Amino acid sequence: MFQKENGWKTVSPEQKAQIYSFSEGYKTYLDKGKTERLACSVALEMAKAQGFENLEEKKSLKAGDKVYIVNRDKNLFLAIIGQEDVEKGISFVISHIDCPRIDLKQNPVYSDSGLAMFKTHYYGGIKKYQWTAIPLALHGVVLKANGEKVEISLGDEPGDPVLCITDLLPHLATDQMQKKATEIITGEGLNILAGSLPDEESEKDAEKEALLKLLAEKYDICEEDFLSAELEAVPAFNATDVGFDRSMIGAYGHDDRVCVYTSLMAMFETENPTKTAVCLLTDKEEIGSMGSTGMRSAFFEYAVALLIEKTTGTYNELMLKRTFRNSMCLSSDVCAGVDPNFPEVHDKMNASYMGRGVVLVKYTGSRGKAGTSDANAEFMGIIRRCFDEGDVCWQSAELGKVDLGGGGTIAQYVANLDMEVVDCGVPLLSMHAPFEIASKYDIYMAYKGYKAFYAQK
Ligand code: MN
Ligand code: MN
Repeated sequence: MFQKENGWKTVSPEQKAQIYSFSEGYKTYLDKGKTERLACSVALEMAKAQGFENLEEKKSLKAGDKVYIVNRDKNLFLAIIGQEDVEKGISFVISHIDCPRIDLKQNPVYSDSGLAMFKTHYYGGIKKYQWTAIPLALHGVVLKANGEKVEISLGDEPGDPVLCITDLLPHLATDQMQKKATEIITGEGLNILAGSLPDEESEKDAEKEALLKLLAEKYDICEEDFLSAELEAVPAFNATDVGFDRSMIGAYGHDDRVCVYTSLMAMFETENPTKTAVCLLTDKEEIGSMGSTGMRSAFFEYAVALLIEKTTGTYNELMLKRTFRNSMCLSSDVCAGVDPNFPEVHDKMNASYMGRGVVLVKYTGSRGKAGTSDANAEFMGIIRRCFDEGDVCWQSAELGKVDLGGGGTIAQYVANLDMEVVDCGVPLLSMHAPFEIASKYDIYMAYKGYKAFYAQK
């Protein structure tokens, strides 16, 4: 009978040790890369250490060459040139490095009730109440008037202070607890506590003035500099094992850095592929993939055009279109694992389970598959065979029950370029919460799956 089983059952002690040790590298990556900029720069350092060279600086490319190109510090495009012509098609694995978070507004600093506060605007689909009363770190960049870029990082080094969004005590929450969950904490209520010492010389807004003076001393920035800054509040805790058996990882940002790290590792272990292999880390997925660093940006086509031009010495639009038409893509993104606390949201026959391997999601969307790239059966057949031959434990799922909600991924934008694409990633519990959970087994199978995909003849 056709039934996917718990993958751990077939794992030998040696394989288990391998799976656990793979997870250690992943946890380190998560801790170092808590924003899209950091996740991009850490990945770039890893790629350089693996011998990847700057694509824009290379005059020409030949089979086996490893190159990278960075887009605005927020996208990383890695390629290994295949033995076949690029035009015969590329194997893409595309994941996103942005995660739900709390961004500071452009005019953030104010004083209230003897406290210094930051105004924020949340990023991505969050349950706002989950972001209160937890320690927050702040990372990002500030561009000063003279053009100098200052990097700010607070809350993640041992001994660092953290920031926090406060919540109401239960004793006074009678009214709050009657509200709908979407209204318990409002968007404008997500203000961050940033200090409380007053500036002795200021009569008005003394805590704000004190905080600004502190920032000026520490970072040499002034209040106006926030206008040209991107500062992101993220959970201040590190990735950690979950369960007595340490079989899972709890962390901020599994969605989608679990696919980022596993595809990077698969890429680094790929040598002389038949087809050109590309690992792309994209941004802005959580807010619709718009903008110059999102999947809908022309940067993607620019990078592929460079591959064509530098491998053949020539370029035209038809070559680019032919390349896409012959290409295959795994849109590597996470799925919802079945949660024993919320079993009612899944059709159990078409749901992904923790520990049953990497998930193929043929279509996402909502209200009758609206807004999805529904992968072609023929392409599902190719990936199915690829995974089976590569001894990859995989499962097939939808995001949840029909008409219960839904979601989208970058797959639709890739598919619009005339490419075969399917969503393929790791099932999670508590997706988009500050602390998400993934199974070490599924993480390892995603890595194995991407590796098998790159190795296709
Ligand atoms: Mn995602
Ligand atoms: Mn997401």
